Amino acid sequence: MAQEFFESLIACIRKDAETHPGQSIDPDVLREFMTDRTPPVPARKPAPRPVQAAVPAAPRSIPRPIPAPVSAPSPGRELPQAARIAPAPAALERIGSLDELRPIVLACSRCPLAATRHNVVFGEGDPHAKLMFIGEGPGYDEDMQGRPFVGRAGQLLNKMIAAMQFAREEVYIANVVKCRPPGNRVPSPDEAAACIGYLKRQIKLVQPEVIVLLGATAVNFLLGKRDGITKLRGKWLGYEGIPVMPTFHPAFLLRQESAKREAWADLQQVMKVFGKVYRRQG
Ligand code: SF4
Repeated sequence: MAQEFFESLIACIRKDAETHPGQSIDPDVLREFMTDRTPPVPARKPAPRPVQAAVPAAPRSIPRPIPAPVSAPSPGRELPQAARIAPAPAALERIGSLDELRPIVLACSRCPLAATRHNVVFGEGDPHAKLMFIGEGPGYDEDMQGRPFVGRAGQLLNKMIAAMQFAREEVYIANVVKCRPPGNRVPSPDEAAACIGYLKRQIKLVQPEVIVLLGATAVNFLLGKRDGITKLRGKWLGYEGIPVMPTFHPAFLLRQESAKREAWADLQQVMKVFGKVYRRQG
């Protein structure tokens, strides 16, 4: 069924190539995405209940760069957990560039994920990208390399980006949390709350024309939606005036290959915004 759909899609694209020379999708690049046989990524573990463990103290040699917007505690009195990991939006708003933001995030220990990470995964790409992809959080490969989407799911994301007629270097790629949740579990609400200010600042600084949210976790934590990705995907949402397209996470597509058909339909909607879709109806 998927093969049948793919072949008919390729036929449409070839027809368009004849009608609109120089403007159509390269069928070979699309084939790379649709027929990718990268081994699947193991299923994600559910998010834990709100974090109860104490926040690890920042190393003495690395001062916390962004003070939390709370009053200083009286001696011997612990701040509540939520206050200790609360984001500091006012402080972040003074950050004027990604280069300025990066070292702050790399030194961050605002949530318990700092204790188990190997590297902070800040994000990468064109600092003025028109198109931004946002995932959930780093996995094993990303944690080891300090770069987003470099593992098996990242390889598939590269193919999705190429099928959309963008180069990876042309887009910006980031995650909701910048440190790997142990065992690739879903970030907890406290962890996401501690980190989301960094992502929001990245969006503000990049100012993309369109955001693609990869998976339900990104939609849930950035937009506050509680529905599953099957219900959310394919419908335009918005974040501070920026059109947002939710779609499946590449890791899910590696496990559920049949969902590539829906993902490709979502990505085509994004391509239309950039004048890159020439798909015939009917
Ligand atoms: S996940 Fe975010 S908030 Fe938590 S330590 Fe890493 S950078 Fe800081």
